[in-house]
Amino acid sequence: DGVVYWMRMQDMRINDNTALSLASEHAQKAGLPLLVLFILSPQDYVAHDRSARRVDFTLRNLKSMQESLSPLNIPLCTFLHTPRTTLPERVIALLSQWNATHLFANIEHEVDELRRDIKVCQLAKKGEKVQCAFVHDKCIIPPGVVKTKEGRAYTVFSPFFRAWLPHLEDKPDPLAYRPAPQANNESIRSHDTYGKLFSMPVPEVVEGFELAKDDAEQMRTCWAAGEDIAKEMLRRFLYTKSRSSQMGEVDPLAEGAKEAEKNPAKDSRIGKYNVARDKVNADTTSRLSPYLAAGVISARECIRATVVLYGNKNGKVDASRETGIGRWVQEVAWRDFYTHIVANFPRVSMGRPFLEKFADVKWETNEEHLQAWKDGRTGVPIVDAAMRQANTMGWMHNRVRMVTAMYLVKDLMIDWRLGEKYFMETLIDGDLASNNGGWQWSASTGVDPAPYFRIFNPYTQSQKADPTGEYIRHYVPELSQVRGDGP
Ligand code: FAD
Repeated sequence: DGVVYWMRMQDMRINDNTALSLASEHAQKAGLPLLVLFILSPQDYVAHDRSARRVDFTLRNLKSMQESLSPLNIPLCTFLHTPRTTLPERVIALLSQWNATHLFANIEHEVDELRRDIKVCQLAKKGEKVQCAFVHDKCIIPPGVVKTKEGRAYTVFSPFFRAWLPHLEDKPDPLAYRPAPQANNESIRSHDTYGKLFSMPVPEVVEGFELAKDDAEQMRTCWAAGEDIAKEMLRRFLYTKSRSSQMGEVDPLAEGAKEAEKNPAKDSRIGKYNVARDKVNADTTSRLSPYLAAGVISARECIRATVVLYGNKNGKVDASRETGIGRWVQEVAWRDFYTHIVANFPRVSMGRPFLEKFADVKWETNEEHLQAWKDGRTGVPIVDAAMRQANTMGWMHNRVRMVTAMYLVKDLMIDWRLGEKYFMETLIDGDLASNNGGWQWSASTGVDPAPYFRIFNPYTQSQKADPTGEYIRHYVPELSQVRGDGP
């Protein structure tokens, strides 16, 4: 008999991982072996526009997890499965092959994933052998907890945040249990069924999702894998100050955040976040999104560390927009907000606008314009710089995500779904809830959106976000000789 934790693309960590903690606790108590299962499903990646960069990041994080789990005597086994329609049967077959009695996983809120997991539960029930537990983990406050007086989901952020915050403060959540080493390591490693799983390699690549050599190197430089790196990124945001003129990759290990932990900078990145966050020519935000999207660090841990460092003695932080700390907590709450929306309004993960009255808008279908936008060749400098940043780094600053999205939808009048798809295919931090939320905000079709008549002027946005033009000169070399304060 055994216990299986089924890890997915959004919970790739051992620390503070609800399903893994529960699985480990159960295995310890029952004296059963625990193993971690990961299934690569290329057809799902195609269906969900997963970028090759995100798939590569997944493989790199799997390797890192395997290295962390091995000393705990917990095997991590990675399988590749097609077609995606039979994935539930495959899971059940593996469980039966391993004689497993318990399956634990964190809930994924998107429609296809929910359907898949329901099928797994149904098959398990039929077989009467395996008990399944699918638990909440992605959000700081799980969907369904924060409700209006009428018991409905919030669809406007500000009241959502006001209702969300007390949950955070009332019940400082304990760190989910880190899996304990499996006892009796010899017998597990020499076990007929489990022993050979320790030597299962993580594939180097998933066919159809190969990265060009240069790109693979660039991704490794910009976004190293592993929980330690994610923690270092968090530390650097909490303790060290931003360096201007830093637009490309960052090396979190070189910034001395560990040292700064003893003596945090007064003007740390988080401290200045409310005033500096919109500047794209400096490295002012946390850059944690790839790690949060893949679950390499939990959002709970980010907030917990913030409260410990900057909260008052009652464990409360000043959550107003006027402080850097408060503003950051609010931004992280947007992630919860959009995930709650996906959980409560499944239509948004099926390509439909949240505001259904906009379902019949006739969008332009100019392929040339779309391609120029993708390539960063629109002739609008800030749009081009931002798209080129996305194309080279797999990441883009929030302000220019809004600027480029609005430009596609409201200047070129192209369907927001095409932009949403391109971001998913290009970014390393692609997350359905946040990406869809951001696109529908920009297109004015979503929850709490920009009103339809609000159209960003890319030039005034550019003056505010990149006042010296440094960001543009960095990413658009054609303009590298242009100087001055504009017209
Ligand atoms: P910080 O400013 O340091 O914020 C910390 C964390 O809070 C982020 O890592 C992220 O997890 C969360 N967060 C911040 N702002 C938002 C927001 N507006 N919505 C939801 N969560 C937020 N974010 C993604 O993680 N994946 C996406 O695919 C994605 N697509 C987007 C598409 C559009 C059109 C827009 C406008 C926004 C999108 N965002 C997305 C949200 C936001 O732009 C990024 O999370 C942010 O730029 C990441 O940088 P950071 O980690 O330095 O963020």
